Amino acid sequence: MKSDEIFNSQDVKIPIVKARMMTKKQRPEPLPQILDISPYVPGHAPSPSTGRVFKLASNENPLGASPAARRAVEEATSHLEVYPDGNATRLREAIAERYGLDANRIICGAGSDEIFQMLGKAYLEKGDEIIQSTHGFLVYELVAQQAGAITKSAPEKQLHTDVDAILDCVTEKTKIVFIANPNNPTGTYISFEEVRRLHAGLPSHVILVLDGAYAEYVRANDYAAGIELVSEFENVVMTRTFSKIYGLAALRLGWAYAPAHIIDALHRVRGPFNVSETAQLAGIAAIQDQAFLETSLAHNNEQRERLFAGLEKLGLDPVPSVANFILAKFPEKLGQSAVEAAKFLDTKGVSVRAMVSYKLPHCLRISVGSADSVDAVLSGLEEFLAAS
Ligand SMILES: *Cc1c(COP(=O)(O)O)cnc(C)c1O
Repeated sequence: MKSDEIFNSQDVKIPIVKARMMTKKQRPEPLPQILDISPYVPGHAPSPSTGRVFKLASNENPLGASPAARRAVEEATSHLEVYPDGNATRLREAIAERYGLDANRIICGAGSDEIFQMLGKAYLEKGDEIIQSTHGFLVYELVAQQAGAITKSAPEKQLHTDVDAILDCVTEKTKIVFIANPNNPTGTYISFEEVRRLHAGLPSHVILVLDGAYAEYVRANDYAAGIELVSEFENVVMTRTFSKIYGLAALRLGWAYAPAHIIDALHRVRGPFNVSETAQLAGIAAIQDQAFLETSLAHNNEQRERLFAGLEKLGLDPVPSVANFILAKFPEKLGQSAVEAAKFLDTKGVSVRAMVSYKLPHCLRISVGSADSVDAVLSGLEEFLAAS
């Protein structure tokens, strides 16, 4: 072979100089919308020089995970060489049994994040629109941006999802409406009646995604995560996660309940082995351990009440929350003090989440942790406020 020629399988000569010209000065470029994405910044562990640390920045379960789930993870280490069940059959059956659902209408993902990604891949293209509420979960916008879709943010009413404001944002380009109920970072929820009213106002080609990441924490008679709505209509998806009350955030496991035609589309875009076998086995054990869930819930109720009362006493105007975190509001006149407070707490070994990226620059989101962590965050804030 002459050195200036390359050959394809039919032995057709292609001058190599042409290939060089094509690549010269050029490098691979991602799609234009990709470089507009600001990557998600996760909550971080505090970095004090000494002492105990309390991570209250990612709404993790302070009690850890169910002992049964931990045993399942240990047992899973004996067969790490085997590919997982790509269909997560046993896990879907365990979830279906727990909630009385049809297992064929459940899909599992590497966190509910991956379910949102699948929805974006299957349903969004350039120029489409999604709608969320102003202080909605940041991942929804990332999903839209990947597809070159536009995010419309509907104003909230006193930090609650506003159904009418969302409906006002609907256009013929709207493809998906995402609401987290309860919402992160506000900790507030809207009644199932309001969710139904939202659904009734949407055109039937728009998917309503009900993100129930914190559903297990809610004990309110007028709340429902959305199972009934999924069963009734062709355009509603409910997502759930094992990352919060189940304490399995490290394993990345979430699921969705959706109409059969949406489940079919999502299976086509997911990776063939998207959920690890370890996560599947832990998920099965976790969802069957009702006692751990009840213990976690009782702990959360007790410590959330203490945290709320303490924040109120400090004049930080906490927002009543039905989830495992509380939004604290610093007086607006103190300007950037919420961000400074977060930095101060960090030096005390307590990490909380500043809310600038959620368009709440005067707020902090504080996860409900152990009793000791509640003491630590309250005494840290007291010290900060006394000094400012
Ligand atoms: C934490 C959280 C999730 C869960 O994400 P995973 O990918 O399942 O860990 C989903 N939605 C909201 C609003 C959250 O706060």
